[in-house]
Amino acid sequence: MLKYNQIPLKPSMSQDKIKKDFKNADKYDGLALECEGLISRTDFLDVVGLAKDAGYKRIKIVSNGQILADPSHLEKLYNAGITLFEVSLVGFSQAAANGIATIRSFEVRAKDKKDIFLAIRFKVTKENYEYISLMVHQVMPFRPDRIILSFEDNELSMTEITPHIKLTIQTSLLNQIWIVTERVPLCLLEGYEHHVSETVLTDSIKRSQGGDCPKCVYADSCQGIDKEYTKKHGFDEFKAVLKSPYAKDIKGLRR
Ligand code: SF4
Repeated sequence: MLKYNQIPLKPSMSQDKIKKDFKNADKYDGLALECEGLISRTDFLDVVGLAKDAGYKRIKIVSNGQILADPSHLEKLYNAGITLFEVSLVGFSQAAANGIATIRSFEVRAKDKKDIFLAIRFKVTKENYEYISLMVHQVMPFRPDRIILSFEDNELSMTEITPHIKLTIQTSLLNQIWIVTERVPLCLLEGYEHHVSETVLTDSIKRSQGGDCPKCVYADSCQGIDKEYTKKHGFDEFKAVLKSPYAKDIKGLRR
């Protein structure tokens, strides 16, 4: 499983603090710099240099799209060796605004930076879950390399949003854009198991299995459910999958 060291990079963080956070690169497959404040730092290229000095070969810039709205930022980051970008969109109207902002960078990429990998993450919440398929459809003309649907609102029931997630997967695949989900377990996405990112990725969320899970064919592959979610909703909606043609393949995805 790929494991990223996820660092929320604040504008006020000192380089000494950043260096400490970048330690232990050998324990991770890469570094995800979550940087809403990155462009307000005049030293953002130095920060990238610190990450490289710390030993990270795979560095991903995670932002709300603001940093990509100015092609000169993209140019500088690209020249510093960054080719992995993730734009994270929340809500409904902001998604449109940020999507438009990123178009410019895509145009730049189309000209001469074919090795840039661009993922667009949609945070699924009560404000947008009913429109999530439409939102994903809106960004299709930008030809991102990957769409990520991340369940981010523990007030919502996962069972309630799952039909919208499935429809959105179909929308993306029809447009030939690969799409993955986060935080929704395999049992709720039968038939769409190969889109569940937790089969190959791991993050820092504290999860657990419970209820029906020991009987499930995916018990060895499933990282479980966010503990904050089960505190509110319990395990009743997660029914063990007793048989699946994909269970062996999915187990094989884990290292
Ligand atoms: S182990 Fe539990 S949560 Fe995971 S897929 Fe099976 S039933 Fe769902």
